[in-house]
Amino acid sequence: MISRVEAQFDIKPERLIGDTAYGTAPMLAWMVEEKDIEPHVTVWDKTERKNDSFSSNDFHWDEETEEYRCPVCNALRSEWRAFKNERSHVTKANTIIFRSRQTDCVACPMKAKCCLNTSFRKIARGVHEAARDVARRIAATPTYQRSRHERKKVEMLFAHLKRILKLDRLRVRGMSGATDEFTLAAAVQNLRRLAKLTSQGPPLTG
Ligand code: SF4
Repeated sequence: MISRVEAQFDIKPERLIGDTAYGTAPMLAWMVEEKDIEPHVTVWDKTERKNDSFSSNDFHWDEETEEYRCPVCNALRSEWRAFKNERSHVTKANTIIFRSRQTDCVACPMKAKCCLNTSFRKIARGVHEAARDVARRIAATPTYQRSRHERKKVEMLFAHLKRILKLDRLRVRGMSGATDEFTLAAAVQNLRRLAKLTSQGPPLTG
């Protein structure tokens, strides 16, 4: 829809507010890298560990050196030696694997919390991780909180349409049928809200 509106009217939103369903890596990459739209979206993140061991979020990504720093400041790199021919290191799952050095981990006091059953720590960084980081940074701002609040107001109207006005499915076929049905339901919803507001009378003064 965004691409269609952009093609037809040459406008696009500055930010997009959505739930976790929009927080997948390819979707965030599309918003950030392709469309230059701020993603006000919760990042879809399955890497968080349930126990108290370190998740990949506990590791700091260094943009300049393109490596991770572990909680005790040792590096995790995608390659520890130079190869004759340059390698992309991208796996079939569209990730790049970063590894710590065994010699760093063997004597590390944090090993039990980090890589108890392996001799070094591995982190799989998605190729779209930079876009996910943009969304994470936005999620920590007051603007994001305002976006969440605005989204809630819109979602409530859709929930009301579904539950109270029973628009849980469209009954008329085709695009124009759907447009008519939805427009009528929205008109009814607005009339109900208007009736409720007018029945309260004008605000008391003095
Ligand atoms: S075990 Fe290795 S990767 Fe983990 S914190 Fe220690 S040195 Fe860093």
